[in-house]
Amino acid sequence: MKILLASSEVHPFSKTGGLADMVSALGKALAHAGHEARIVTPLYRGIREKYPQLRREDWIFDLPLGSTRVRAELWSLELQPGLVIWFVDQPEFYQRAGLYLENNQDYADNAARFVYFSKCAAHLARYSPWRPDVIHVHDWQVALVPALILPQKIAEGWGNPPPTCLTIHKLAYQGWFPATAFSLTTLPRDFFTLNGAEFYGQMNCLKAGIVYADAITTVSPRYAREITTEAMGCSLDDRLRMRQHQLFGILNGVDYDEWNTSANSFLPHAYSVTRMAGKTANKLALQKEMGLPERKEVPLFGTISRLAEQKGVDIELGALAEMLSADIQFVLLGSGSPVFEQGYRELAARFPDKVAVRVGYSEALSHRIEAACDFFLMPSHFEPCGLNQMYSLRYGTIPVVRATGGLDDSVIDYSQSPARATGIKFFEYSARALAKAMRKALAIYEHPALLRQYRRNAMQADFSWEQTVNEYVRVYSLINPNSAGPKTVQTPE
Ligand code: ADP
Repeated sequence: MKILLASSEVHPFSKTGGLADMVSALGKALAHAGHEARIVTPLYRGIREKYPQLRREDWIFDLPLGSTRVRAELWSLELQPGLVIWFVDQPEFYQRAGLYLENNQDYADNAARFVYFSKCAAHLARYSPWRPDVIHVHDWQVALVPALILPQKIAEGWGNPPPTCLTIHKLAYQGWFPATAFSLTTLPRDFFTLNGAEFYGQMNCLKAGIVYADAITTVSPRYAREITTEAMGCSLDDRLRMRQHQLFGILNGVDYDEWNTSANSFLPHAYSVTRMAGKTANKLALQKEMGLPERKEVPLFGTISRLAEQKGVDIELGALAEMLSADIQFVLLGSGSPVFEQGYRELAARFPDKVAVRVGYSEALSHRIEAACDFFLMPSHFEPCGLNQMYSLRYGTIPVVRATGGLDDSVIDYSQSPARATGIKFFEYSARALAKAMRKALAIYEHPALLRQYRRNAMQADFSWEQTVNEYVRVYSLINPNSAGPKTVQTPE
């Protein structure tokens, strides 16, 4: 099958969160399974310099955007056999310091930037000699693609366009813009109605995707149920309920080629489920790196996160203030809201021997923290899937999570199965409930045999993409029953 994935971020070229990891891992997994995948994404600043092997394609986009036309080039890179990344090069739109914002301010022309990118994706699907069987778009930035295809099918002679699948990674981010932005799409006016892209007088890109895509998926089964409820549907629950029969929850997989403890250049010490000494060595190394007392016996908690309300940062700060009277350490790597950044800095100033904070973004440090910690805190208010808890499991770092979305789907609490428990869950969204869960963590830590069992269960939990990819292929086959299966079946390395 030939699948065109469209995403505004793709690891390792651009990333602000789990979307980048998921799209890249899905592309790789599809290729491993013998399909042909291409991922189209913007060419952001720095990518060409970092990847000199990028090739310019003999291809120019010249597409209407509102009342003007905008030109762009196409560049490409074959990431592995069966997986090509297509980069849309429009320097004025994409060669910037940030992907979506700078100094905490969204770019004022985000509507133009992503309507244009969506148009490029649809254009490639129609005119490239490589004809996809399915177009799979991710999040609001490309959620207009299904709508952009429809009039071309109805009135502009695109005989048999590929069906579309929309994956919602974060329902809360919908791409809302003033009604005037709709003219950028150059879609017929009847696409801007209650049953289309219009939403309380504004343009809502994600809503358009929910209405017009042939299938909708989201990144965990529980989140798929949650988003059809008024409490968690971010005002789109009625639309999602209308599409309930085409809505599927598929838990993300983990790219274990990248996230592993035995062959990982980011980690000073390798370890595995049968040879755990390296984990302690990583802990001592991280304590040293972060300026904390090097004490292997002290329980070390960690968080790596966007510092946004969604992530439960407010209750984490509250719980830590309470728990730091105990003999524990805490490390944070994160960035985001200045208020939260300041909150953690103040905590580190108050408890210099117990708390170390790095405000910023570092892939290497994120691996070292995952490897070094005993417990990973993820008290999210809501969590479509969440990846860090799954990375923690593989690293033998027991996740302490609020039972929501993908966190609930991927972590097993003692109360669910004493023999198979991999982490600690709590339910109430409060600092008190998180502090109580942290006390449970400390109780486990005091019983080495129990801690070993949790770690063993965690490290053996399998969230590899082989299973996940089959579920996506099933959805693709549902919307395009005529598409062929894998061309050649390759054995994963
Ligand atoms: P979300 O997509 O909501 O941000 P996920 O848990 O799904 O949350 O994915 C977050 C991804 O981003 C993980 O790979 C995590 O390690 C990474 N990440 C988040 N913040 C940072 C940071 N400050 N430095 C390095 N990696 C980070």
